Amino acid sequence: MPYNKRRLAAITAAVAMSVTGGAVISPASADDRETKKTATARGYGGAVSTVDPEASAAAIEVLRDGGNAADAAVAAAATLGVTEPYSAGIGGGGYFLFYDAKTGRVGTIDGRETAPAGMPRDAFIDPKTGKPYNFTPELVTSGVSVGVPGTPATWDRALKRWGTMDLDDVLEPAIDVANRGFVVDETFRQQTLDNKVRFAAFTSTSKLFLPRGDAPAVGSIFRSPDLARTYKLLADKGTRAFYHGQLAKEIVAAVKAPPKTAATRLPVPPGHMTTADLAGYSALNQAPTHVEYRGYDVYGMAPSSSGGTTVGEALNVLDTFNIAEMSTPNALHHYLEASALAFADRGRYVGDPKFVDVPTAELTDPLFGKERSCAIDPKRAAVKPVPPGNVANYDGVCPAAAASIADEKDTENISTTNLTVADKWGNVVEYTLTIEQTGGSGIVVPGRGFLLNNELTDFSTVYDQKDPNRIEPGKRPRSSMSPTIILDEGKPFLALGSPGGSTIITTVLQTILNRVDRGMTISQAIAAPRAAQRNTANVTAEPAFITAYGSGLSAYGHELAPAGDAFTSAAEIGAATAIEFKPDGRMVAAAEPVRRGGGSAMVVKPSR
Ligand code: GLU
Repeated sequence: MPYNKRRLAAITAAVAMSVTGGAVISPASADDRETKKTATARGYGGAVSTVDPEASAAAIEVLRDGGNAADAAVAAAATLGVTEPYSAGIGGGGYFLFYDAKTGRVGTIDGRETAPAGMPRDAFIDPKTGKPYNFTPELVTSGVSVGVPGTPATWDRALKRWGTMDLDDVLEPAIDVANRGFVVDETFRQQTLDNKVRFAAFTSTSKLFLPRGDAPAVGSIFRSPDLARTYKLLADKGTRAFYHGQLAKEIVAAVKAPPKTAATRLPVPPGHMTTADLAGYSALNQAPTHVEYRGYDVYGMAPSSSGGTTVGEALNVLDTFNIAEMSTPNALHHYLEASALAFADRGRYVGDPKFVDVPTAELTDPLFGKERSCAIDPKRAAVKPVPPGNVANYDGVCPAAAASIADEKDTENISTTNLTVADKWGNVVEYTLTIEQTGGSGIVVPGRGFLLNNELTDFSTVYDQKDPNRIEPGKRPRSSMSPTIILDEGKPFLALGSPGGSTIITTVLQTILNRVDRGMTISQAIAAPRAAQRNTANVTAEPAFITAYGSGLSAYGHELAPAGDAFTSAAEIGAATAIEFKPDGRMVAAAEPVRRGGGSAMVVKPSR
């Protein structure tokens, strides 16, 4: 493919490099990439929004070279595997939504990681104590948490189903960035520091990400020659080379006998993956979830993700209220309460549909949403956790109060990345991909330049036969990823998604509300401070949200607690991307102005 390297060559020429292993510290000069951190871009001919200028640039180059949205999305995702290696890459999984302008339909690919066939139900119990491993950093830094990756299979499937280019063409920009390197920013350095103990537990990982024992300095150039070679292997031989043969054997070896350093004190429980697990992996074509909201058609990701059903149910609940007419605190009160109700049902009903009977149709039924809306007191926050609804018996009429249930501990970590792409033909991609928490399992496959996921920690830690998200061999752990495409009379209106573990759901929901009901532009809707009510006693909120709305919401009985935990430095929720489609064909690509260091929105032909 005639991938346009002119701009990139100019950058590379400005950077002196001497390379050993992964990171190389040399000052970046004459670099124009920072200037591409534009949060909003308007124009025609195609658009992209990601968290990273290199990834957005890769998508734009592919679009300019005649590729469509699917081609450009894979190019951007592969580039994120280089520049956001702690959030996404070929060692992980994700969910890909595609709006096909020719047919007017939305299709999806479920590229979720799966549990190995040999995974026992007590995989997360420490045999030494008979109790669950401590979650962070012990369980998350392990071979036992690594699921069979789905991302290479997703790229392959997306290109075959909807793309116009071959894998080797769309991997070219990413290979180029991996070889010439990218400029380390605050976010990358901080994420490395946040993971220092975990990365130091592995010889391969410390060599790549902690050269000379420290995180790469801000402003230095970070190169990934091993990853470039791995991508080249896939470019030349196809993704079969990931799931079969030598690379597959090396992945299995890293999972079963993680390359531990002598000094680490982490237990690093080994995993159960075999080459047969890798050879047997498939990405799945799935029908999307669908709800109507304020006359729009909202398409999301069906289980194994809980994104589509949970965002969809909450929208159905909120559709019964006139949010636009409410005061801001009242609108936010309804948002928080609807979210808690949908999370109660998510916990009760949603798991991998291959293993559990998931009532997707009921959960997204407007009548069920109407009945659930009865549980919202317009003046008072309900005591959390609220109980789930009854999908076997509902009629839209308010039922008698149900018994309360035990609080659920939310162990989903916050990492992941999301991208939105549209092309000049009107096709749209919304794609969320992840290796689970920032830094995944912490295990780099030696010599291959990518981290393995720890997605299996998204299963419930302790086995319970009644739990739809219990560990089972071959199963996909429940996700919260919520890539969403919204149509207006059959034409794209808005596509959006976010990282953030289970706050993905609330971020997508809140952004839709902000845009559709609260009179914000899409850029304002993304920038606005966030809060997440996941059916827990406290509402998790960004500091700016607490400052702005804390007292208004405490009048309803909501208790707000700042986001962030002991293991992540940021008190942020999510890192959304979106594209809005204007009636005249103009596209507005929107990224984060501040969160995660700011994202990157670009269009093919800018306009005012
Ligand atoms: N494991 C999460 C999920 O699938 C995503 C990780 C994150 O966003 O932090 O929902």
